[in-house]
Amino acid sequence: MAEWRNWAGDQRCIPAAIERPGTRQELSEVVRRAAGEGLRVRASASGHSFTEIALTDGIMVRLDRLNRVLEVDRGAGLVKVEAGTVLGELNRRLDDLGLAFENLGDIDRQTIAGSISTGTHGTGARFRSVSAQVEAIEMVLADGSTLELSAGDDPAGLACARIGLGALGLIYAVTIRTVPAFTLHRVDSPKPLDETLARLDELNDVNDHFEFYVFPNTEIALCRESRRTDEPPRPRSRAAVYAQEVMLENWLGQLFALAGRHLPSQAPRLSRLAASGVGRSTKVDRSYRVFASERRIRFTEMEYGIGREHAAEAVRRVLERATRAEHRVAYPIEVRFVAADDVVLSASHARDTCYVAVHQDRKLDWEPYFRGVEEIMDDYGGRPHWGKRHFQTAATLAPRYPRWDEFRSLRAKLDPGGLFDNAYLERVLGPIASGDQR
Ligand SMILES: Cc1cc2nc3c(=O)[nH]c(=O)nc-3n(C[C@H](O)[C@H](O)[C@H](O)COP(=O)(O)OP(=O)(O)OC[C@H]3O[C@@H](n4cnc5c(N)ncnc54)[C@H](O)[C@@H]3O)c2cc1C
Repeated sequence: MAEWRNWAGDQRCIPAAIERPGTRQELSEVVRRAAGEGLRVRASASGHSFTEIALTDGIMVRLDRLNRVLEVDRGAGLVKVEAGTVLGELNRRLDDLGLAFENLGDIDRQTIAGSISTGTHGTGARFRSVSAQVEAIEMVLADGSTLELSAGDDPAGLACARIGLGALGLIYAVTIRTVPAFTLHRVDSPKPLDETLARLDELNDVNDHFEFYVFPNTEIALCRESRRTDEPPRPRSRAAVYAQEVMLENWLGQLFALAGRHLPSQAPRLSRLAASGVGRSTKVDRSYRVFASERRIRFTEMEYGIGREHAAEAVRRVLERATRAEHRVAYPIEVRFVAADDVVLSASHARDTCYVAVHQDRKLDWEPYFRGVEEIMDDYGGRPHWGKRHFQTAATLAPRYPRWDEFRSLRAKLDPGGLFDNAYLERVLGPIASGDQR
């Protein structure tokens, strides 16, 4: 029996079988067969989640053969694709059609179904997560039948399925609302941290996409500011991209992480060195090539969404925690901004959100640091990224989502026997109760 591992290499399972359906019918057959044999079913996509969310000892469904573009309505900007389509490939196909996602995260290796199932987001205070850009979802349910939830026919059902954690069914296809292709002008530059925290609203107003990184023990915010532009794209040569984004950002980062692991007392000096060595750089290119970069350093991560009004105070508190010597943190914290949406399990549900992400060497004891940061996030009613580490349970999560019971009801209705369950879902959603059904 083959072992499955996530991207970071620290989540593993040995499924009873791994299936690779190539059509919707084959997907239904896998579900029916599993149910008949009394096995549970879980999809795993690109494995870029840091949690146990994709793990199973039942049937693992891989989606790499479900990667076709099914329908395109250029006028309306609606594009229907199969669930296993990888974002990087989808971006190129959309660009050929003169279309693009309105916003994306910082890598493009995830699949469309995997991204939306955990609430993947980018940055941009006026823009929403990838899940909120979804107009319809076609799923195979626990009995093998097919259900399409769309914004027109069942907005409440879609609001649950847009971030479904794989708990409602196996997604076969996703319809995305795209926008006309656009170019971004991005400037990366270091700025004083105090000034950046004091000007957060302004920086979010003047930029379409604003984010920053801060290394612990430094007072420098490494700011990334992107605006939509009519300038022609100036794509860099592959060699230049490799030198800047792969070598500099990844290999140097790896060096700092290793030094942090083996010379912990030097972590503060290294952080200051890393922050002071960053200069100003500019990139003008098609949006999808600006949003995504390459991540070769393997780390582990926690990320929380909190109300935007708490951003400056929370960042200061997280930095104070990250500087404690016992945590040996040589990674920066990352701060992003996303517009409110109506997705039931979204960290941005009904509130403009600041996301604070902390990273740690996966071979170090990351738990005390992450637990400390989580305590801070709890003070702001923080909602965890479903694909990133956290220690919450259904009991601590339920009060943070105003429409929590709607999700529980739909789960109980669509998967009463828990065919799509695993230990992670039991922890974060609780058991499926028959009394939950609406
Ligand atoms: C280097 C790196 C950078 C990242 N950057 C960002 C970022 O910028 N912003 C952000 O928000 N997140 C980011 N993430 C997190 C990542 O986007 C999410 O964890 C995402 O879910 C991963 O997608 P995936 O295709 O790898 O899905 P997986 O991790 O393989 O699966 C995620 C979940 O989706 C479910 N699933 C997958 N396919 C289906 C299907 N067809 N039907 C039902 N359920 C399904 C799985 O069962 C699982 O529960 C990053 C992660 C890494 C490792």
